Amino acid sequence: MANRVNGKLLVIGFGPGHFDHMSGRARQAIGESDVIVGYNTYVDLIRGLLTDQEIVRTGMTEEVSRAQEAVRLAEEGKKVAVISSGDAGVYGMAGLVYEVLIEKGWHPDTGVEVEVIPGISAIQSCASLLGSPVMHDACTISLSDHLTPWETIARRIEAAAVADFVIALYNPKSGRRTRQIVETQRILLEHRAADTPVGLIKSAYREREHVVLTTLERMLEHDIGMLTTVIIGNSSTFVHHGLMITPRGYQRKYTLDSTIQDLKPHQRLKPEAEPWALEGSLSGKNGQDPTGSISAAKVEVEKPNLPALAMEALSILEAKGKVQTTALADASSETASVVSIFEVAVSSGLAEKKWTPAQMKLLAELAGEKGEIEYTPHHQILLRVPTDSPQEIIDCLTGEGLLLNPVGDTVQIKACDFCHGDKGESIPFAEELNRRIGGLTVPKELKIGFNGCAMACYGAVTEEIGIVFRRGSFDLFLGGKNIGRNAHAAQRVAEGLTPEALVEAVEQVVREYAEKGNPNERFNKYFKRVGVVAGFRHADAPKPTIPELACGE
Ligand code: SF4
Repeated sequence: MANRVNGKLLVIGFGPGHFDHMSGRARQAIGESDVIVGYNTYVDLIRGLLTDQEIVRTGMTEEVSRAQEAVRLAEEGKKVAVISSGDAGVYGMAGLVYEVLIEKGWHPDTGVEVEVIPGISAIQSCASLLGSPVMHDACTISLSDHLTPWETIARRIEAAAVADFVIALYNPKSGRRTRQIVETQRILLEHRAADTPVGLIKSAYREREHVVLTTLERMLEHDIGMLTTVIIGNSSTFVHHGLMITPRGYQRKYTLDSTIQDLKPHQRLKPEAEPWALEGSLSGKNGQDPTGSISAAKVEVEKPNLPALAMEALSILEAKGKVQTTALADASSETASVVSIFEVAVSSGLAEKKWTPAQMKLLAELAGEKGEIEYTPHHQILLRVPTDSPQEIIDCLTGEGLLLNPVGDTVQIKACDFCHGDKGESIPFAEELNRRIGGLTVPKELKIGFNGCAMACYGAVTEEIGIVFRRGSFDLFLGGKNIGRNAHAAQRVAEGLTPEALVEAVEQVVREYAEKGNPNERFNKYFKRVGVVAGFRHADAPKPTIPELACGE
């Protein structure tokens, strides 16, 4: 093997700029170098670490000559530090140094030794100043089209937006490149909500550090320049007291405001606890399709695949003349072990709480011997029937004047009986709301309490969304929690809404929740997390005060 060339290239990322954020190895490497090669500003940033090193400094756009000079000096036998801010391998000098070496026929075993020393890149340093916006899948995109065709950059922006990545934009704007950030915002707004949180960080951890928290829609109203990094949140990112936070997904399995978890440690990695995973079922809870429409649930039952059992069944049925052999052969196959269970929530009407004998009788007949009838606390009955013809069941039930709702994580209007119709002025608006959003799929089942007078005797104000009709207009309540030891009433967010405004507002609230809520996240938690829904701002429920009791009380 040929002798290695003696020199060494130390390609150093020194992080955001402050010495405290530089790695020990980076500082050591600068100290042991004979020559420092860098962009003027970077050399100034590390000047406090320099002793007697030779300095090769150049201006912007001269990075190729810097890399060539660094390689030349290393090939002369010198230890050469090539410095980049951030990480040398993220839009830094590492790639260019390797490319220059390779052009010269460099081989790692025989050419100058190369050591790339990692640093904290802007996506990390800027994220730390914002809170935790990069807690989920993220990407970096440089908007500089000096070396990359804009068409390529635009395609990447669009792909990242569609894929819901958190995006860190590097080099967003310069004196001459001003349109790129405008075009980027336009592309992003086609795929992300206007109120998506955006962080603008200038000179992170340097003297003129400046942090702005804004939204995708308003980001261009702020100063963005060469030293700014732009961090765009994903569809789950939220702002809490000036911090930008992207959830990792813990809400899917854990209750973060409780020390008692529904899933025990040994259950947490089981496929049934992760229905969203590749191995899990993608068909949704209870077989309900993602649109929330009523459908038959496919329930796997024990598979009688044993050949002996099949043959026994065959002979019994053949003996009874019940089946043809060919039909039974089908019955013994894999498909025969799947039974369709149709499940639906049935009520006598939105406002009507009385059942007729005919309705009760129909329910009993449809359930038959093999079906199930279950009464729920929500003024409705769950009917489960084994059938492959759910439409027939639907037709029978609706024909008898019954109201059907899909089961599972959907919206249901839970109305009072309007004093048996005596106070029925607001019923049309409950029905309109039901037409618009009843049955809509949401991250977690959502009951909307709708009460026909200020008495609110059906408990609308304790539901996650509560509506109370009062003197011709509506009061709207959001974020109630009516179960658990930390149950609390909902927050009154609006009073005196006109019927039209009420219907619009509730629809918007629910659609925002449907779109942006995390899987399994209840509405009250979602409202607390995002802080503002459809313009209604969340306020924490007052903490309970526990009076000091005299001993013995
Ligand atoms: S909330 Fe009012 S209208 Fe509805 S049942 Fe109770 S008292 Fe009657």
